[in-house]
Amino acid sequence: MAARTALEGSLMAVSIDFAHAHDAGAAREPLVPVAIVPMTMVRPQVVTEPERPHLVGMSREDLGAALVAVGVPAKQVRMRVAQLWHWLYVRGVSDFGQMANVSRDLRTKLSDAYTIARPEVVDEQISVDGTRKWLFRFPARGAGRPVEIETVYIPEEGRGTLCVSSQVGCTLTCTFCHTGTQRLVRNLTPDEIVGQVMIARDRLGDFPDADTPEGGILPSEGRLVSNVVMMGMGEPLYNFDHVKQALAVVSDGEGLALSKRRITLSTSGVVPMIARTGEEMGVGLAISLHAVTDDLRDVLVPINRKYPLAQLLDACRTYPGVSNARRITFEYVMLKGVNDSLGEAKDLVRLLRGIPAKINLIPFNPWPGSAYECSDWDQIERFADVVNQAGYASPIRTPRGRDIFAACGQLKSESERMKKTDRMAAGA
Ligand code: SAH
Ligand code: SF4
Repeated sequence: MAARTALEGSLMAVSIDFAHAHDAGAAREPLVPVAIVPMTMVRPQVVTEPERPHLVGMSREDLGAALVAVGVPAKQVRMRVAQLWHWLYVRGVSDFGQMANVSRDLRTKLSDAYTIARPEVVDEQISVDGTRKWLFRFPARGAGRPVEIETVYIPEEGRGTLCVSSQVGCTLTCTFCHTGTQRLVRNLTPDEIVGQVMIARDRLGDFPDADTPEGGILPSEGRLVSNVVMMGMGEPLYNFDHVKQALAVVSDGEGLALSKRRITLSTSGVVPMIARTGEEMGVGLAISLHAVTDDLRDVLVPINRKYPLAQLLDACRTYPGVSNARRITFEYVMLKGVNDSLGEAKDLVRLLRGIPAKINLIPFNPWPGSAYECSDWDQIERFADVVNQAGYASPIRTPRGRDIFAACGQLKSESERMKKTDRMAAGA
């Protein structure tokens, strides 16, 4: 597979403010606003055919059915599924022609009926700190138009976290979130969700080189994409089936092989889906808490009016698999003068008593037109001290990629410019 992509070294000036790392327990670092910084751009990738069904993201069963549909004899299906799985997810090929041990005849049948092409990369921005943000374009589904979403990669000492999107836009309207100002255009499909991981691995050189001999031993450790967080655009639990399917593929031990312990799903609090997330996906849970009273949470995270704090915390207490070894992450955005008093810090600790919890304080990332300000750094530290004294370690999310507008809640795609009629046609 392609190793690191050659970069077209154009320099661009942007003026941005704070950004984030999507990582629980990151080390503290002072927040410094950045004004003008260099940014590296790469040439967009080639667009591909939207009409043929995508094999990426399918379950083994569906892949088997897809093979039968092009004439693969029933007794060969298992073996062929294993072959395809290996080419797709271990070798990372995006062209049937590269599947050396698959006959030319079958390769032709497959490529006539299906696609395994990568999503189109419209833009890639690389921060001075190594954080990367990709803008992807996905083909139209049904009567809709092509859509765009963003995915962010955050490298750190010893790990690399990919922040994956689940929807184009969001139906929810959290008042501090940029994505929340963009109406839902549509849910992403499993191939589009898995595709974000595949492209990241392509771009980072995380798949083996094409000349690696067949049967050659490939390292399973030390990959650049070591963690996935469903914290990009959208509410993953409003796209439950597709996210579940995609994460099953991403965590499959014979493929991309990301341990479920290294996958975290963040929700604004879709209470009825929380138990199923634990039972059926088995991934780590993060809750966008952001307030300690219903009155304030009703404003900041309006889904709270439907599922108030007491219900949300009950669902956390009984989350399948929760333990001191597998804690729930509670995200708390620091909004100046809104939710950052020391009284609220104490209430936060009290509220979470009895739940195996980690607390992530997220410095607010401003966006054009946002009504809030980030809390002063001193206040964030004082708030963190209260939380730390109650036994929660290193809770401030380190700002990262601040120069490329890649932060939590800053993601918002061009798709929002779609006309309302197109959104309706897309099923939103
Ligand atoms: N919809 C899901 C996941 C995506 S948002 C959810 O709400 O949990 C990922 C995280 O970024 C959430 O905790 C969200 O509340 C937070 N966030 C959104 N906007 C932000 C902003 N402007 N600054 C900091 N964090 C923000
Ligand atoms: Fe949607 Fe999450 Fe943003 Fe709320 S914080 S608007 S749920 S993406």
